[in-house]
Amino acid sequence: MDRKEKIVELINQGYDNVKALSQYFGVSLMTIYRDVRELEKEGKIIRKHGELRLRTQEDLKEEKIDTCAYCTKAVDRRLEFIYHLKNRKVKACCAHCGLLLYKDIKEDEVEACMTWDFITGNPISCYSAWYVIGSSALPCCSPSAIAFASREDAEKFAKGFGGVVTDFEKGVEGIRELMKRGQRVDIKL
Ligand SMILES: [Zn+2]
Ligand SMILES: [Zn+2]
Repeated sequence: MDRKEKIVELINQGYDNVKALSQYFGVSLMTIYRDVRELEKEGKIIRKHGELRLRTQEDLKEEKIDTCAYCTKAVDRRLEFIYHLKNRKVKACCAHCGLLLYKDIKEDEVEACMTWDFITGNPISCYSAWYVIGSSALPCCSPSAIAFASREDAEKFAKGFGGVVTDFEKGVEGIRELMKRGQRVDIKL
């Protein structure tokens, strides 16, 4: 059994802090701290106010990890694309899935749709955003669709990474076309 596994076992037995663990193993606090950090990252334990405990099913439920309504990938907040409907939210992992979801969601149900500007990280309305579709930059799904608040930024980005600059509606059409054909095509605008 390696030390990390033993740490999990000890926490389960009631060892709830780094100091107690370092004394148990006779190693430095830093060494235990490093193991604890790794275990935290692996999602095995939780450290709160210096206290260690195992991560339970309850914790998982509370953390509510969002998944994309289109591709089921975990949603990264920097790229998320959210439709606010009357009674619920529909989240997509990125503009690619967000634009593809549009036709599955009844237009009249959507009260708002928001995403984040790729450069500034500011919230923007999906409908007024500009998109670079099919560029060589792949922050999430392929073919990629990336949202920008300004058309100028989108055009600059497309100059560097390729792809076509579209508004929301053309983006919905464009990403569908690309998905059908699989390869980059010229989108008629
Ligand atoms: Zn997705
Ligand atoms: Zn995605």
